[in-house]
Amino acid sequence: MTAGVDLAAIDTLVGDGPAEWDATGRIPVELLRKLGAMGVLCAEVPAKFGGLGATSLANGELAAHIGGLCSSLRSVMTVQGIAAATVRRFGDREQRRHYLGLLTSGKLACSAFSEPGAGSDLSGMATRIRPAGDGTGDVIVSGEKMWITGAAYADFVMVLGRYGDGDDGAAAMVPADAPGVSIEPVPSPLGCRAATHCRVVLDDVRIPADAVLGGGRQPLSLLFTIALSYGRMSVAWGCVGILRACLTAAAVDARTREQGGGPIAEHQLVARHIAELYTSERIATQVCVHAAEQWDRSAPDAAVTAVLAKQVGATHAARGAATAVQVLASRGFSDGHVVARAYRDAKAMELIEGSTEISQLVLARHAIDTI
Ligand SMILES: Cc1cc2nc3c(=O)[nH]c(=O)nc-3n(C[C@H](O)[C@H](O)[C@H](O)COP(=O)(O)OP(=O)(O)OC[C@H]3O[C@@H](n4cnc5c(N)ncnc54)[C@H](O)[C@@H]3O)c2cc1C
Repeated sequence: MTAGVDLAAIDTLVGDGPAEWDATGRIPVELLRKLGAMGVLCAEVPAKFGGLGATSLANGELAAHIGGLCSSLRSVMTVQGIAAATVRRFGDREQRRHYLGLLTSGKLACSAFSEPGAGSDLSGMATRIRPAGDGTGDVIVSGEKMWITGAAYADFVMVLGRYGDGDDGAAAMVPADAPGVSIEPVPSPLGCRAATHCRVVLDDVRIPADAVLGGGRQPLSLLFTIALSYGRMSVAWGCVGILRACLTAAAVDARTREQGGGPIAEHQLVARHIAELYTSERIATQVCVHAAEQWDRSAPDAAVTAVLAKQVGATHAARGAATAVQVLASRGFSDGHVVARAYRDAKAMELIEGSTEISQLVLARHAIDTI
């Protein structure tokens, strides 16, 4: 049990699905709704709003477990969690009650920041969330978002944009079926193929003002920091899951595959690969545990520990997945194999929620300012 969730029940629900989902580019949406209604997709939502009330640490172990089964599923979990964390932090009481209730009862959400002209530098965001100004009290959302994970499944797109005509930010819960919303999956992504990554066009989408969290006018950088920090923790733990899956596959194969007169594990160069994988898994886990504990105690450095956890997790997962393919060689070289999937999926972790380079800049700035 983690966060009050029976992990064996999740294993049963997921079954042999991940390889097929990877091949077809789709996870059955009924499964996502079921996991959502169990509270698994945003487990930190407090019980009073229908959630599991998990700590960051317990939610992290849940993300690692799911990440070990399927990074696409963990990605959908991450973006639902980002939307829920943003509602928790910026929504008013009624919005928290309404949206968190929906997100823990089977409705699905994605989180949209990136745009064609705003990737690493989100301050270049052009999406606008403006009062309609026609006496209806409505709000108009216009812009274009790119690579939005889980948008093909979503009931709501949590859109970050600029409020009104100024530089302040706002987050709005835009119904995915609202007139003016179009969602188009990016064809043939390298990894996390079943998460769906979509171009989302918002063509003067009219929504009620109460869909704008807290009424808007929050600093854009604060909105990013809250949303991305949750995402970084979730991705970091997902990387722990990738490492655990790769370590298991590599160790089992090294014990059982015989070449040169015995199991390949007895060749020291192969044993070194296993040692490196084990070391990576232990390092990533410990950094994630530290970051989660900082979040659970609201420590002042919680945001930077999330960057560190994501950076360590992603770089070790990308290297570890490549190592696992090396150990399994031809046996791990088919798309359906867990290490082949991990190899493709892990690369994405070095790009998202702040690329490796952006994470390095944040960590360097922190070290220079504090040491
Ligand atoms: C699988 C996947 C899932 C995603 N899911 C989502 C999602 O759900 N929601 C969402 O909003 N977005 C999502 N994204 C978008 C993601 O956040 C961006 O791809 C990421 O922020 C990088 O932006 P970019 O691709 O435009 O690269 P760019 O910003 O163009 O960067 C290109 C390269 O330049 C480097 N670089 C850029 N600026 C600097 C700098 N100042 N200093 C040093 N190096 C720099 C980068 O590190 C990178 O190596 C997803 C992307 C992928 C690949």
